[in-house]
Amino acid sequence: MSTVWIKSNKDRTKLKDDVALLLEKAAAWDWLGQKDTPVLLKPNLVVNKPASAGATTTPAIAEGLIEWLIDHNFSNIIIAEGSGVGFSTTKAFDVCGYTSLAQKFNIPLIDLQKDNSVIRKTPMGEFKICTTIADLEADGGSLINLPLVKGHGQTRMTCALKNLKGCIPNTEKRRYHTLGIHKPVAYLNTCIKQAFALADGLNPDPYWEEGGKPQKLDLLLLAKDPVAMDSYACRLLGFSDEYVEYLCIADKLGIGDGHTSDSDIENLDNTTIENILGSHDQNEIKQWINTIVDQRSACSSCFGNLSSALRNIRENIPNLKTQALPSLCIGQAFKGKRLGSTQRGIGVCTVSNGNKSLQRCPPSMESILTFLNNEFFGDNF
Ligand code: SF4
Repeated sequence: MSTVWIKSNKDRTKLKDDVALLLEKAAAWDWLGQKDTPVLLKPNLVVNKPASAGATTTPAIAEGLIEWLIDHNFSNIIIAEGSGVGFSTTKAFDVCGYTSLAQKFNIPLIDLQKDNSVIRKTPMGEFKICTTIADLEADGGSLINLPLVKGHGQTRMTCALKNLKGCIPNTEKRRYHTLGIHKPVAYLNTCIKQAFALADGLNPDPYWEEGGKPQKLDLLLLAKDPVAMDSYACRLLGFSDEYVEYLCIADKLGIGDGHTSDSDIENLDNTTIENILGSHDQNEIKQWINTIVDQRSACSSCFGNLSSALRNIRENIPNLKTQALPSLCIGQAFKGKRLGSTQRGIGVCTVSNGNKSLQRCPPSMESILTFLNNEFFGDNF
């Protein structure tokens, strides 16, 4: 069984010290390659929102890690990320504080959305990964994963395993959704190895991958084993890891040592960690979204933007529950399909002769709101 080290951080002025403490306690240098080999930091910058929104990795965590690496004579450091489809990584680097961080330490920033790719063969067929990631492995380098403990509209949660999806081209991200997302995410972890994961559990959004409803957890997590990390992240989010399909598949593939129990947690504070159980309101909205949205192989950004738009509508029309609701279709599996007269399509994949659809890819939250407003709500919204 694998250990997950955890450290609470209520005083953000001591965040970098707490990062270093975790890394020291776990002797994390043992998980890295030779001192002169490259070390690639992979944050989660899925959207261009600051960490306070609960969707992106706090830059001070990366800064604490960089200082610790330099102290241990790892000087060949790179930061690389490929944001979600529809979002610019370059903009995310700026907004999330990574451009200034890279300038401060004179570290290269690599936008993986602009990278080339190479093929990896898996039992699921050929997978494409970014050339920078393949080169890192060829050079004996180490990938340090900096995910968040976060909720996710389609997969329920995201942390160490799923964060590697930022290391593949956008076309491949779309393809994963046609394959049902869970299995390819698990198999991706057979193509890309992480040295360890240092997860941001300070202020995460336990419901939505694009943030907006952050909750204070004040926690840092460290593990060599991404399955153990994600298993514990599920507990923090208030549900059992057996509900996360890609985690169960990764476990069966032997990517990690399996599910965590209390004895696997090394708590540096010896304080009780309380679950950040979701609030009733947000869980109810999630269920409502699932009842009106017919999602078939939708890309994360597409589904995420639709979820954000629907949450926005619920907040503006509180008694919407009792109204007759539309059926909203979204996803790549709707390509060429005829929708019924009471259905509406979200995204270019649902555009077909006679369908009433929003022709964007991916549609922004604002464009979805305008479309739904015109179609259904009129002056009520
Ligand atoms: S419109 Fe289709 S391809 Fe574009 S983001 Fe949405 S699901 Fe993906």
